[in-house]
Amino acid sequence: MSIIDTPAIPLGGPTLPQVRRLVTALPGPRSEDMLARKSAAVASGVGHTVPVAAVAAGGGVVVDADGNSLIDLGSGIAVTTVGNAHPAVVAAVQAQAAQFTHTCFMISPYESYIAVAEALNRLTPGDHEKKSALFNSGAEAVENAVKIARKHTGRQAVVAFDHAYHGRTNLTMALTAKSMPYKSGFGPFASEVYRAPMSYPYRDGLSGPDAAAKAISVIEKQIGADNLAAVLIEPIQGEGGFIVPADGFLPALAQWCRENGVVFIADEVQSGFARTGAMFASDLFGIVPDLVTTAKGIAGGLPLAAVTGRAEIMDAAHAGGLGGTYGGNPIACAAALAAIEVYETEDLAGRARDLGDILQARLRTLQEQDPRIGDVRGRGAMVAAEFVDPATGAPDAALTSAVANACLAEGVIVLTCGTYGNVIRFLPPLAIGDDLLNEGLDVLASVLATV
Ligand SMILES: *Cc1c(COP(=O)(O)O)cnc(C)c1O
Repeated sequence: MSIIDTPAIPLGGPTLPQVRRLVTALPGPRSEDMLARKSAAVASGVGHTVPVAAVAAGGGVVVDADGNSLIDLGSGIAVTTVGNAHPAVVAAVQAQAAQFTHTCFMISPYESYIAVAEALNRLTPGDHEKKSALFNSGAEAVENAVKIARKHTGRQAVVAFDHAYHGRTNLTMALTAKSMPYKSGFGPFASEVYRAPMSYPYRDGLSGPDAAAKAISVIEKQIGADNLAAVLIEPIQGEGGFIVPADGFLPALAQWCRENGVVFIADEVQSGFARTGAMFASDLFGIVPDLVTTAKGIAGGLPLAAVTGRAEIMDAAHAGGLGGTYGGNPIACAAALAAIEVYETEDLAGRARDLGDILQARLRTLQEQDPRIGDVRGRGAMVAAEFVDPATGAPDAALTSAVANACLAEGVIVLTCGTYGNVIRFLPPLAIGDDLLNEGLDVLASVLATV
């Protein structure tokens, strides 16, 4: 270590030089050091995909302890959508931290929590009367949405879908579809959770209405509407592979829920906040969910989550039935208000559509030359490529991780996902420049030519 100069640690945010620059192989020596400490001190169950020690991030880059500057096409899983260390978020956090850091909203309420609730009530789909409750994580929001739906309906069953991801707590493990790595060995899981088939146009070939009829038939035969509290669905699935349901699937499900007194919950934890080119993915499909769960992109990187929905449903839970020590922490709320203002005043949904146009055009060009790219799909800046064996269409997870690792070695952070591990997802911060995004895609193209 002694022969290596310590690179000066730059400040994060948009003034960070927007370049891809590798000064060491990855991981560099300082990152190696940190990773050795990680494996000694941190539980092995907490994995990592990018083996570098991050020290600064902003715009479209993440800088590591060795001075490498990587193009960020992951946003820490759709969290730093406004850009990492966004100046407005930083200022709001600094100001609030100097004021008070905590009271517990259930002890002494404060205005910023209420203002976040008001903003969510205004921004989520539908113009009916809404209320919100704030939590710390996406999983916690999903758990609470289920609690609220059960209390409101007096019913217990919940339907989730194939390929769904809703979190890692006990109830949300039950709701999540994929065993490895999310569930395996961690049972027993919560009861009264049922699974229905998802619309997956690339693999099921069904129209939206046909896929919905299939799901509804499973629900009616195996559960019965009278027993069903809620249908929970990601309008565009995240971890499951960025699966965009066929047109008509979500409206048919929502309609069936309405007719049967079932609470329709849209889990927009990954797809929310301008990511898909609309404020919420539900808007793209013309659906108005009864409840919406949000987290990830809500607060520019601070931990915050919410359930927002019809006032009469949200009010079903008795006082004291919802909440938590930290839920709606004042610093996280200040960050959320700053981030939400950026989403609105800078039309980040429009920026997501522009970035999506670049992503889709370039990926489709690659697909024309490379039959291993079976499908390109997504909306806005939530886009994925699914890798397959061209002869059989079988998922090719080995190729997918080879491509992702090769991109990383060239200084481009891309994330994989999918039930079969054969999808590369692109979730650039909306603060990335066109040039940097294109450079990242140039790297992908050259990697595909050699892998
Ligand atoms: C990430 C995610 C969750 C879980 O959020 P955490 O904050 O990690 O608990 C739930 N639902 C969806 C759709 C997600 O993408």
